[in-house]
Amino acid sequence: MEEALRNYVRLHRKELRSLRDAVRKYDRICIFRHIKPDFDALGCQFGLYHFLRENFPGKEIHQAGDTHPTFVPRLFPAPEKIPNSWFDSPFLAIVLDVGDKERIADPRFQKASMVVKIDHHPFRGPDVSERSLLDEGSASCGELVTAFLASFGRRKKVSKEAARALYIAIVGDSGRFLYGATSPLTFASASWLIGKGIDIRSIYLSMYEKKIEDLEFQKYVLDHYRITPKGVAYYLLPEEGLKELGLTSERGKEHVNMFSNIEGINAWCSITEDNDPKEPCWRISIRSKAEDISGVASKWGGGGHPQASGAKFKDLSELEAFLSDLDDLF
Ligand code: AMP
Repeated sequence: MEEALRNYVRLHRKELRSLRDAVRKYDRICIFRHIKPDFDALGCQFGLYHFLRENFPGKEIHQAGDTHPTFVPRLFPAPEKIPNSWFDSPFLAIVLDVGDKERIADPRFQKASMVVKIDHHPFRGPDVSERSLLDEGSASCGELVTAFLASFGRRKKVSKEAARALYIAIVGDSGRFLYGATSPLTFASASWLIGKGIDIRSIYLSMYEKKIEDLEFQKYVLDHYRITPKGVAYYLLPEEGLKELGLTSERGKEHVNMFSNIEGINAWCSITEDNDPKEPCWRISIRSKAEDISGVASKWGGGGHPQASGAKFKDLSELEAFLSDLDDLF
């Protein structure tokens, strides 16, 4: 096993052992992750799902949550429809890549006999889990789940399918090993997964291949972006823009990173209208070159990581105040 991965497993052996014990104890397990999933959330969920199914054939394993407009079925199968009655008998809930209770994609985790969690989001509580492996410093939840799999030792097999999903998770949240939180553990986990025989060329193609329509989206961004006096670039995608481009609001953030690596741009955001009847709002994806933007995200109804966070506001009249909070960071 790669040295950094082995060291991590050794350093966290207590937490990892208590998570393994929980898995061994329950014959019925459901894996949860965050709403509006990304590569990391879905990759962790499917990676662990395949690993548990393949290595614990006597157990009933499920994965819960909403779907994704473009990753399903291109990268991951459609989510299962699990009947309510399934949750009436004792089960273990494994919650991945999410801290706050409100962001767990299916509220039925609350019926679990035990909740355990693996996550890398900054988290202030209250904690819904009894046991956990939490590491704010790690670039992806995928590398933590990989460490969990590695901690089972050689007797348990990691199939190509499980390795592929976890590799997608790691590559997705580390920004292809570019973001600052990328560490020896990130590379060691990726290397260990590649050793399981996955084809990374086809993985990158299915993760990042774009369609011609994406060029129109990029053109829209280039035609509409603005930059504040302190170097915060942003684009607004109102309902009409989404219609014109044939996009759902979840996809509004897809080209936010067009502004990375531009001199003079310190932070950048996509601001997309979301007419979800449950919570109509403008959803913001914020990214930054170096400064910690997670505090501003928390103030604006969201949260996340120092260089990648999500937030929202109700009305466009709040745009100026939001941008001014970001400008104050620089
Ligand atoms: P997004 O811009 O939606 O891709 O989110 C960027 C990162 O921030 C992801 O890791 C999300 O999981 C995280 N994030 C987004 N919204 C929230 C929130 N309300 N609370 C905590 N983390 C969040």
